[in-house]
Amino acid sequence: MIKMISKFIAFTLGMLFFSQIAFADDTSSNWLKVDQLSQRQDFLIDKGELCKYLINTYEYVAKTTPPSLEYKFTDIDPQAQPYIIQASSLGLVNSTNPTTFTPSATVTKADLAVTLYKLIKIIYPSADLTGGENIIFPDNVSETDLIPLQFMYSRGIMEKTKNGTLEASTPITLGQTIDTIIRTIATAPDFPVLFNHYSSKRAYLTFDDGTSANTIKILDTLKKYNVFASFFITGKSDPTIIKRIAEEGHTIGNHTNSHNYFAIYASPENFWADFNIEQEYLSSVSGQDILFMRFPGGSNNTVSVKAGGTQIMKTLTMQAKEKGYFYVDWNVSSGDASGKLLPKDTIVNNVLNGAKDKQDAVILMHQIASKTTTAEALPEIIEGLQKMGFEILPLSKNSYLPQFLK
Ligand code: ZN
Repeated sequence: MIKMISKFIAFTLGMLFFSQIAFADDTSSNWLKVDQLSQRQDFLIDKGELCKYLINTYEYVAKTTPPSLEYKFTDIDPQAQPYIIQASSLGLVNSTNPTTFTPSATVTKADLAVTLYKLIKIIYPSADLTGGENIIFPDNVSETDLIPLQFMYSRGIMEKTKNGTLEASTPITLGQTIDTIIRTIATAPDFPVLFNHYSSKRAYLTFDDGTSANTIKILDTLKKYNVFASFFITGKSDPTIIKRIAEEGHTIGNHTNSHNYFAIYASPENFWADFNIEQEYLSSVSGQDILFMRFPGGSNNTVSVKAGGTQIMKTLTMQAKEKGYFYVDWNVSSGDASGKLLPKDTIVNNVLNGAKDKQDAVILMHQIASKTTTAEALPEIIEGLQKMGFEILPLSKNSYLPQFLK
């Protein structure tokens, strides 16, 4: 089961992090029978065409043909539109007017969430579709759309936009529709996506102070276990390693250029000048917008008081938010920052004991060259967390982000 779950997560995250249309010419989506997907992916999908994919999905997953009901719409040709009649007979698509269907109407993101939610319920009537109730959307979302949207977001099937909004009422493209359908049924016919394994407990492995040769060892282990982590990088780290981190789907965060407490915490100007050097370096090497940051020593470090006074971290955390960065502290420490090199087993125990009672565990570890036992502890940490029922994820905007200073 774990293997299947991690397979699905890898698949889902792959979809989130890489090409929008990974399946254009892939045999894994042949069952959808999309005509000219690569040429038409940016076209808005209409309600009529959506019916075709709903029915093909239904037949593919349920391994049966939908019942055909009496044809009743005046604005579709029953011979040319069997999918519309079938989708309507299943109750997947509605029409406000009982006699017309308006097949050319556009489909919004919310429409698609609602429709796929209905489809899952029809195919698996006893599936547990709860989860995501605490996901809040800043946009105005109607009552009927809210639960399906929360479900889609809690399972990583749909994503928020860059500014955290949903754009639930935005019409969606054919490419986005196909991606969403494929994500929804990614593991059919087993459908673990439905059984809420994913939103129960989440662990975020975070590695500070790199990169180094340990980073390569860490990346190899993550790859072997098919899990994703977050790397907070300092200085002019090896571009090859940074690129690899980005390409393999991990999250990159800024941990300042100099990591020199007395210099960066002397004033807000000093901090942001140092931070911006690293920001430019990381974005240009990785090709990504770097949204996450971790303050050296955490946002409650005490050195900053000596360097820049009692208000300095308050000012910096406030400014970080204003600039649109997510600063991330931790709620589980591996203890590997300690002056002496900790034995591997101590690190494993610290992490697993720290995570034990957490719903969301953000785990502090280090990738700096001297911390060799952290990289050695990683396989046991991953296996231990998975045994405890944690889903291991890279940090994202939807993650729980512990912040010592609010
Ligand atoms: Zn650090």
